[in-house]
Amino acid sequence: MSSPELELTHRQEFSAAHRLHDPTLGDEENAQLYGPCNNPNGHGHTYVYEVTVRGQVPPSGMIIDLNVLRAIMREEIFDQVDHKHLDLDVPFMEGRISTAENLAIAFWECLAPRINDHPGCRLHRLRVHEGPDSHVDYFGPPEQ
Ligand SMILES: [Zn+2]
Repeated sequence: MSSPELELTHRQEFSAAHRLHDPTLGDEENAQLYGPCNNPNGHGHTYVYEVTVRGQVPPSGMIIDLNVLRAIMREEIFDQVDHKHLDLDVPFMEGRISTAENLAIAFWECLAPRINDHPGCRLHRLRVHEGPDSHVDYFGPPEQ
């Protein structure tokens, strides 16, 4: 019988500016598509992102050491995005429209290699809140 799997979630908050703008579209189309989020000088959000890891509980009793997870999130994400302009200051957002959906995908790509490096533990869900009322969930690319 295999032991049960559990999920562990840690969240961090950061503040950032961005502008939703598709460079392949004209100004008018962008304004129509993104509305106030297309404001030429950008706007800001207090974001929250949550990282959920999944795994069996080893003899240590921890799927992953929470201090380790916190440090990985801080290094890979928080330090890159907090008080930054997501479209101008963040290399891993280059070429991506900075929606919550695309942030979740980019965050996953930054975090998965480091988290999955821990035996028995894998990244399970990346959740990004752009405000208090909505969030997106990403469960990673389809398995090959
Ligand atoms: Zn926005």
